[in-house]
Amino acid sequence: MKKLAVLLLSLCMSAAVSAQSQISIVTTIKPLQLIASDLLGDLGSVEALIPAGASPHHYSMKPSDLRKLQQADLAIWVGPELEGFLVKSLKSTDAPVIQLMGGSEHKEDEHEHHEEEEHEAHHHDHGGEDPHVWMDPELMLSASIEITEQLIEQFPDHKLQLQRNQERFASQLKQIDDENRALLQPYKQIGFIVFHDAFGRLIEHYGLNQQAYITVDPARAPGARKLAQIQSLIVDSGVKCVFIEPQFEAAVVRRIVEGLPIRLGQLDPLAMDAQVDAGYAAYLQALTRSIEHCLR
Ligand SMILES: [Zn+2]
Repeated sequence: MKKLAVLLLSLCMSAAVSAQSQISIVTTIKPLQLIASDLLGDLGSVEALIPAGASPHHYSMKPSDLRKLQQADLAIWVGPELEGFLVKSLKSTDAPVIQLMGGSEHKEDEHEHHEEEEHEAHHHDHGGEDPHVWMDPELMLSASIEITEQLIEQFPDHKLQLQRNQERFASQLKQIDDENRALLQPYKQIGFIVFHDAFGRLIEHYGLNQQAYITVDPARAPGARKLAQIQSLIVDSGVKCVFIEPQFEAAVVRRIVEGLPIRLGQLDPLAMDAQVDAGYAAYLQALTRSIEHCLR
């Protein structure tokens, strides 16, 4: 009887130890979850705070989000330009935080600035850099190195595995990036319009011909003047496609393109349909295929 109890106790202890050795990462948006998950592999789990159907521009923290953040080994976010809602909560976590945009030298200014405006201003109104950094494969390659270095510092026992994961991430990204470039090559001159100004970095990376975006703030309906502008742009400049987004009801866009010689495509800035296991490179590939499909 006594023996059994000891055995049970040691089983419990080993279960507790292995649970502890599972690394836990929290990201804000799903595209960052894809990247962190590629890098972590089976060493732990990565959770995104914001559901992929919701926009990071107008999100507010739930108490359960705060708990996740406090329990995580590492938190990854873009920065105050995108996830202004997180600025205060990040102060209450002891976990290391990786901020992908806005280097540490401006950090204090941005904090003050954002606390003032947190509730009214949309990040794009700040007129700064494009906060949709996950649209740039090169930036995300650098981010993967930064994240891996941080993880190795915290979990040196897993150094080899983490390095191997990062190398695999880099080579998959390179391969898909080359394929994407080749796929889009014939369509570089063809004009298109996007719904919200989220894809600038991707479009620049592949040298594509975006003519306009309909709104900077996806939660606000574009005004009549903007819509009239878009309509005449479609008619006058031979734009071939307008991309809408799955997160927003684009009735207004459907109405302007109705009866015009133009296609309606879809681009998802938040990787709603992406399988986490398939990873970041597969998401980039899906975006590229959506573009190609509409411009063809
Ligand atoms: Zn945006």
